[in-house]
Amino acid sequence: MFTFDNSFARDLGGFYLPADAEKPPAPTLLYFNEALANELGIDRSGLSDGEVAARLSGGALPDGAEPIAFAYAGHQFGTFNPQLGDGRALLLGEHIGPDGRRHDIQLKGSGRTPFSRGGDGKAALGPVLREFLMSEAMTSLGISTTRALAAVATGEKVWRDRALPGAVLTRIAASHIRIGTIQFFAAHGGAEAVRQIADHAIARHCPAAADAPNPYLALLDHVIAVQCDLVASWMGVGFVHGVMNTDNMTLSGETIDYGPCAFVDRYSAGAVFSSIDKGGRYAFGRQPQILHWNLARLAEALSPAIVAVNPDDQAAAVALIEQMPPRYYAATLNVMRRKLGLVDADEGDLALVEALFAALEQEEKDFTIFFNDLNKEIERGYQTTETPGPVADWRKRWHARATGPAEQRLALMRAANPQLIPRNHLVEAALAAAVEQDDFSPFDALLAAVRAPFVRRDTDDPMVQPPPVDFGPHVTFCGT
Ligand code: AMP
Ligand code: MG
Repeated sequence: MFTFDNSFARDLGGFYLPADAEKPPAPTLLYFNEALANELGIDRSGLSDGEVAARLSGGALPDGAEPIAFAYAGHQFGTFNPQLGDGRALLLGEHIGPDGRRHDIQLKGSGRTPFSRGGDGKAALGPVLREFLMSEAMTSLGISTTRALAAVATGEKVWRDRALPGAVLTRIAASHIRIGTIQFFAAHGGAEAVRQIADHAIARHCPAAADAPNPYLALLDHVIAVQCDLVASWMGVGFVHGVMNTDNMTLSGETIDYGPCAFVDRYSAGAVFSSIDKGGRYAFGRQPQILHWNLARLAEALSPAIVAVNPDDQAAAVALIEQMPPRYYAATLNVMRRKLGLVDADEGDLALVEALFAALEQEEKDFTIFFNDLNKEIERGYQTTETPGPVADWRKRWHARATGPAEQRLALMRAANPQLIPRNHLVEAALAAAVEQDDFSPFDALLAAVRAPFVRRDTDDPMVQPPPVDFGPHVTFCGT
């Protein structure tokens, strides 16, 4: 079903370990992402659901697979752990699509690997469904992310705080190279090893960097660019990743690891959903700063390779990190100008955006509904019925700032302001029905809805309603 060409296994011996999936007792195909399979040229024709389920859970290896577990390191909540790795994930191989693009095909939850430490290497159904849903939602919102090809029930119980149904997710990524992967090579291998993994990353994500005077500096520059765009796009839809450890940030610029993630309902810079993030390190409004910190760790890890090319480039790497904040602001303005229907640039725009966030926070506005109301305001011709206050004051500034024809502004805004996000209360209810009652209909309905976030719905449609007043606090968890 895949066209494998396994370059990591071939070229990077010593930085992964071969591993086997465990055979699940009764694999059953729950979801198969036909649209994604078509896009990537993954052909399941001739295979029954049962045969697909076996191949995407560890029951039978797809032809050409060479299962390996990656080693990686990472800063977790600011503390360096030199030895992490795929403890519950297994790379089957790299699939080459009809357009020649390469994608990792990885099983998540297929059993223990040499990196599992005390863990069972398994995944429970709830987190597998959550990752499937969230990554489909992000894709439909136009945000770069790893994808979900399939969810398979294993027919086995996994033990968490209680026995839960087990499942395996098939995750697809442009690559699984994380900041923590480079950190592992730097910590255990030195300059030559860093050069090797960096060359591999360059070939996959920014081949033009190979021709730069210093390819490793060019790689750093590339990752800064794609990660600034990524985090700016998160901030534009109210996405809280929840565990931005350096092992959960890719060099490809894809969102990875949907453990404790959530979308804010009310705008709140301090919003934290993760059960373990007591200090709010990964709060919604801190994500750009944490990105900056993580990119500095990437620069440190790449530096042995950077200085091996040219010792003077150490200063250039430091400068790239120092110059990251203005690049992030440019990325965020790019997102926010579209959300606000600003067809041109004005030097006061950053202040306008910051004033908006302060006003939303003060009035506890629902983030998604607020931006949809802005769309409507243009449609109605600038009539505001709002009660006086910081948000109403901000709207006056926004009206005064606006230029260009209304249709042009509206087209920008409609394409940038989704009406629908996966609301926390709906996600909780859908996962509970699937896990507790074996009822997948709420999940099916929510999955269909998040795949069309820009389609107009009635404002009283439950899919676009804010949470009931008695909902919460919403708590999310790491791990599957
Ligand atoms: P995460 O918090 O999801 O980024 O995971 C951090 C690390 O813990 C990774 O190296 C995972 O492979 C490992 N891990 C998490 N859950 C399990 C599990 N159930 N079994 C083995 N390893 C795990
Ligand atoms: Mg992780």
